[in-house]
Amino acid sequence: MKTSSFRIVPIRTKIAQAARREAEAGAPDHVFVTADSPNGYPCRHCLRWAQSGERMILFPFAAIALGRPYSESGPIFVHAEPCERYATTHEFPQAFRKGRVVRAYNSQHAIIAAEVANGDGPEAVIERFLQQPETAFVHVRSASHGCYTMEVERL
Ligand SMILES: [Zn+2]
Repeated sequence: MKTSSFRIVPIRTKIAQAARREAEAGAPDHVFVTADSPNGYPCRHCLRWAQSGERMILFPFAAIALGRPYSESGPIFVHAEPCERYATTHEFPQAFRKGRVVRAYNSQHAIIAAEVANGDGPEAVIERFLQQPETAFVHVRSASHGCYTMEVERL
């Protein structure tokens, strides 16, 4: 049986909770939005698409923390209501098999490879990137919007 060589890392529950608190407090960069389409509002905590009508929080997330050339902060959604952090971390979430780009980063948090996941899907690209010894971790993003979806680490 083939087992994956990676672990999916959704955003930490602490970050989702902090975003909910900030939005409740009226922070200008944390806004409530209501999902109005089935594939427009991915939650980075439970790694599911919001159903139409679900309330989400849109806020900036630093996928690569400040202080590096590749530092990057960008908009992500989480459910406004508490949701369960994605737990089947040995499986790539089915909801995000399409329209993703995979980026490999080295230990200096610099991008060393990037590829749109077509054909065999994101797992094949992730596995190939993680086989490179210089890859420290991998990010999966929306190929169209560029938004951060999840981190993937080597097992
Ligand atoms: Zn969620």
